[in-house]
Amino acid sequence: MPLRVSRVAFSGGHILTMDDRNMRADVLVVDGERIVALGEPELLRSYPDVDVVDLQGRTVGPGFIDAHSHLSIAALHPCWADVSDVADIDDLGRRLTEHAAREPDTDWIRAAGWNELTTSVFPRRRDLDALDLDCPVVVAHYSLHQCVVSSRALDVLGIDRRTPDPVGGVIGRDASGEPDGLLVERAWSEAHARSMSAYEDPDRWGEHIVAYAHRLIADGITAVHDAACSPAAERCYALLAKAGRLPIGVLAMPHPALILNAPTPDRLEGAITGEGDERFRIGAVKLFADGGVAPAVDAHHRGQPVKFGTVFPDLTTHVSAAAERGFQVAVHALGNVGLAGALEAFTHAARRDPDGDHRFRVEHACLADARQAATMAALGAVGVVQPGFLHHLGQAVEGFGFDDATWLPFGTLARAGVPLAASSDDPCTFYEPLRTSAHGATRRTGSGNVLNSGESVTYDDWLRAYTAGAAYAGRQDGERGRIAPGLRADFVVLDGPLDPENPPRVAETWIGGRRVFPKHES
Ligand SMILES: [Zn+2]
Repeated sequence: MPLRVSRVAFSGGHILTMDDRNMRADVLVVDGERIVALGEPELLRSYPDVDVVDLQGRTVGPGFIDAHSHLSIAALHPCWADVSDVADIDDLGRRLTEHAAREPDTDWIRAAGWNELTTSVFPRRRDLDALDLDCPVVVAHYSLHQCVVSSRALDVLGIDRRTPDPVGGVIGRDASGEPDGLLVERAWSEAHARSMSAYEDPDRWGEHIVAYAHRLIADGITAVHDAACSPAAERCYALLAKAGRLPIGVLAMPHPALILNAPTPDRLEGAITGEGDERFRIGAVKLFADGGVAPAVDAHHRGQPVKFGTVFPDLTTHVSAAAERGFQVAVHALGNVGLAGALEAFTHAARRDPDGDHRFRVEHACLADARQAATMAALGAVGVVQPGFLHHLGQAVEGFGFDDATWLPFGTLARAGVPLAASSDDPCTFYEPLRTSAHGATRRTGSGNVLNSGESVTYDDWLRAYTAGAAYAGRQDGERGRIAPGLRADFVVLDGPLDPENPPRVAETWIGGRRVFPKHES
């Protein structure tokens, strides 16, 4: 098959259109970057001069759109010390020391992927001080919602025993009241921003983004929504797109460099949702209702009240300000109290503009009840959910169900009529759509147990949520997400039946009418 043909047709397999009316077709015709025709086998007679690809029974579907990815951050992970699988605290120290030796010019030493639950390793600042490194050290949690820093880092951040906890964050302290290095939620924002800035040279960052995007392409991902896109990341993507070097479509969700905070007023004055082109476009503003390691929960477990977590202030004000500027709004809401806050803020904004196409996005919706699902549906809010969360979070909450709210309530949301967009939250969990979707269908957690089987959504519906659903969430349903004439020729060829117990594999990925995976040898 040639690398690039202006006109090509596919037949001899299944074409999964993801269109509500016309779910399957036999023949697909592509001309340049566009899909131009779709139909039954006789359609080929109208295109006598096209190259015809025999699918040999395989399935063509739209390219996957990861509706909640942190591509700009995940792309830098190869630069940092990977501590996701450390054996013990000494091993963590070794990896940081090796990383420091590899990066002599950086002014922050950063480790990524720390997970105290899977590794049982919980460093404190004294452990990091003992490494005797010349720079401040930050060990970032896999969730991107907390970290542990060294004493030098605390000095640089201006944190000492007199520093009060910031609103929406916690500074960990030892028994004597001295900061112990743990910075939770908004207490970690500045450490994240400072340790990112050392890697934000657009040339270097751009190379990493391009390399990482090629990994995503091999798993069928043809576009992502970058769910917390800093101004520097927006500039980096824009430069790549302008140079024709951005391998996949990117929808940037504006967010300040200070992670977990609301965008600055000057960003709200900048480019709004929809500006850009098919390769790089501005999406919804990203706001936070509650924490990530500290989701706001208020429910009952076997009759006993359970209440914990962090609620961030002023959400309603921020949602309305962004909506009034013309932005679509996405709110991270993990716990049921976070979700209640998001729905209240959306209701308020919708009342001020009852005729607007708000298409509010709830990111995560990990704990909800049927009433909240009905409210989401009534508001027309999209659930941007992560079936892969069954693996980590699902394992963590096994045996800790609530009487009055459901963990990872994807079936409840779907039955209520909430449009679902699927995503990974990479690098907080694995990103392969065919794999995360399998978890969403089987409801199997990392331990192999099944969590709330009644909340299963079918594998086909997950693939629809990863394509048409994600495009709808990004207000890009007029350009991608389905196999339909006029839309971008971004699609995948899948080998094997659509069986969550034995998922198919991505045989080919095509973007803009070009086969980009696998690459040709020559
Ligand atoms: Zn996220």
